[in-house]
Amino acid sequence: MQRRNFLKLSSLGLASFQLPKWTNAVQKPLVVSTWDSGMPVNAEAWKVLEQGGSALDAVEAGARYIEDTIDCCVGLGGYPDRDGIVTLDACIMDDKSNCGAVAGLERIKHPISVARKVMETTPHVLLVGDGAQKFALQNGFPLESGELSESGKKAYQKWLEKSQYKPEINIENKKGNGPFAPAFFEDGTANHDTMGLLALDQQGNLSGAVTTSGMAFKIHGRSGDSPIIGAGLFVDNEIGAATSSGVGEEVIRICGTHTVVELMRQGLSPEMACKKACERIVNRDPKKAATLQVGFLAINKKGETGAYAIQKGFVFSMKSNTENKINPSKFLL
Ligand code: ASP
Repeated sequence: MQRRNFLKLSSLGLASFQLPKWTNAVQKPLVVSTWDSGMPVNAEAWKVLEQGGSALDAVEAGARYIEDTIDCCVGLGGYPDRDGIVTLDACIMDDKSNCGAVAGLERIKHPISVARKVMETTPHVLLVGDGAQKFALQNGFPLESGELSESGKKAYQKWLEKSQYKPEINIENKKGNGPFAPAFFEDGTANHDTMGLLALDQQGNLSGAVTTSGMAFKIHGRSGDSPIIGAGLFVDNEIGAATSSGVGEEVIRICGTHTVVELMRQGLSPEMACKKACERIVNRDPKKAATLQVGFLAINKKGETGAYAIQKGFVFSMKSNTENKINPSKFLL
């Protein structure tokens, strides 16, 4: 029942027999993350949340975990750009709308923690490229070797044969791989699983984090949606939070996650808000949308969660006191 209708009914004395939905207990703590690779990420975040830690610490811990472990699409093991260089994008946002981000960061293992440093110690929101690296080094982050991971090398060699930038939809699902699937396929195609996480802590506060190596074989210097606040991540502690994965340019064009949160502000459920955002992308250019994937994931202040994607194959991982599972997302096309 809509709050306004409930108030109308209660003023007539008609609603006393029925509890409106919005008085339901908040489900907290809670963490959700993009894709099935989010399961172990949630487990890391959960260690923080179950001890009463902040959503901010939880999302950073989860993001750091995946930056260390996956080879394809997050962290230094990720696939390179077309010049053969791995460039990392990340952002973080807390319950007070503080935010920090890095884009095109090279040879630093934990871009999410650099993003948090930007948020907490500078007057800025986003640092890019060499400046972001210099800032990381000044703050004690070690400079790692610029060498590609084994899978990154193989994928790059294969890609060089044709040198075509052609992101494929849900390649990881088409090939039937589960969590921690091999990142390199013999035909040179790549996974593209940006990690976006959203958490609601025991205090009822929201935070989010995103970390990625971006689209494989992108032009050197390209940034996707992932480090852009309002595109790859948005948190409004009064309403909810959202994150995205897929072709970042499409998400940026509609300020994707900001749109999702604003739609939740208007009363839409997380799932419906994600659906409307997907529709906005598809309606803009249906032909193009048919060739690409974007998935949104959202959570609201009540601990309700939902996702929607343009194409089949997007999933999200969820961990609460009662659930620990991978949920398929509905899709438009
Ligand atoms: N959104 C990311 C980007 O555009 C890629 C992804 O989610 O796979 O860089």
